[in-house]
Amino acid sequence: MGLFNDLGKKFEQLKQEAESSASDEATHGCRECETLLYTDYAECPECGSDSVVPVRRD
Ligand SMILES: [Zn+2]
Repeated sequence: MGLFNDLGKKFEQLKQEAESSASDEATHGCRECETLLYTDYAECPECGSDSVVPVRRD
């Protein structure tokens, strides 16, 4: 019983870490609406602008 509760908590924790680290790994962003993207879109899925540019991380 206790074991399953611990696993459930651990799973939630891992899921949250995965979600937060995903937002650190955006590869592209829209210059118009500043939406972070994970794919090199030809047009921003949020505002339709073609100003999707690679995010520089040095
Ligand atoms: Zn946009």
